[in-house]
Amino acid sequence: MAMTPHSAYDDRKAPRLQVSLGQPELHDQLASLTEVPATYIREEPMQRGDTIASLLKRLGVDDPDAQRFIRGNAAARSLFYLEPGQLVRVEADQDNLLVSLHATLGGNVSTSKELVIGRAGDDADEPAYKAEVHTVRNELRYEMRSGIVAAKGFFTTMDAANVPDEIVRQMVSIFSGVIDFQQDIFAGDRFRIVYEAGFRDGALIRNGRVVAVELINRSQIYQALWYAADGGNAGDYYTFDGRSMKRPFLRSPVEFSRMSSGFGWRNHPLHHQWVQHKGVDFAAPTGSRVFATANGIVDFVGQQTGYGNIVTLRHPGGFSTYYAHLSGYADIRPGQSVTQGQLIGYVGQTGWATGPHLHYEFRFNDVPQDPLSAILMEPVTLSGRVRERS
Ligand SMILES: [Zn+2]
Repeated sequence: MAMTPHSAYDDRKAPRLQVSLGQPELHDQLASLTEVPATYIREEPMQRGDTIASLLKRLGVDDPDAQRFIRGNAAARSLFYLEPGQLVRVEADQDNLLVSLHATLGGNVSTSKELVIGRAGDDADEPAYKAEVHTVRNELRYEMRSGIVAAKGFFTTMDAANVPDEIVRQMVSIFSGVIDFQQDIFAGDRFRIVYEAGFRDGALIRNGRVVAVELINRSQIYQALWYAADGGNAGDYYTFDGRSMKRPFLRSPVEFSRMSSGFGWRNHPLHHQWVQHKGVDFAAPTGSRVFATANGIVDFVGQQTGYGNIVTLRHPGGFSTYYAHLSGYADIRPGQSVTQGQLIGYVGQTGWATGPHLHYEFRFNDVPQDPLSAILMEPVTLSGRVRERS
């Protein structure tokens, strides 16, 4: 008997192998069964509250020596740290004594650690054991998920479509230069996503990187593809026509926010007169994290009239950004470099503010611009042969 992956069965071009074997002689077989000591193999998932004794009992192993060995051996004791649901496989002999034990201990997307316990000697009457932890290569699979954003919102839809949280986070990050997932996603928007996942013995070890993602936002199609020039880990996301997904400035400087007031003329909520609003307000709970929208240098950290606690950053090309009404700062100092997405402070309502929000300003040559309409520096473009390969 053999097993093949489902895809090989579906694939008409997959090589087929057929082997015919002669029927064995039944008498010889029966005779040989009594000669070779029989062992059996059993597999059981770890359960909540399991002890080594209860696990072995469920696996049909009745072997005080093996139990004692597992309790006393450093490598074998890694069994104690298995999560519920993780599989343990044993081979036991006719007397229910342990012959070997295998368990996958977890790992990253490409490799797992595997515990192997086996008999150290051939003496079946007085077995001694040894335990080793090996690093083994996982089976890399490409998982695909797709769906339509429901009225309940993007994050609920992703849960319902069985997209793991870390994959959702990657997707949000990939599109962070062009889409604010708190505000720009609508019911009826569609997504398709392909990501790497490492499996061992059919069980998921760890999800890996998003390799391709498509989002249809109203009628706009956003696509991103992972490409690493050297085939290694140092790569980036590109559109299908070879433009980098990285934008010089993020769309939103705050996690979990909604825009409460836009750029331009408005009736000031505190002073009740029409004033030019020089930035964009993002309503968010006090303590929400505020991120640098672009790489730059910290220009100012402290208090200013009206702004309350404020951080300002200088960026290449004459741009600067202001983050005001903060409740606190991250560990940053004037003159220090920050990178896009780096934590710089926390939402608050210091200065002239009626409720917790971030006042965000985006300036060019010190003149406030509308950060949501500004078309900024062009992103990097792959060209020619490199583009074809990606
Ligand atoms: Zn404001």
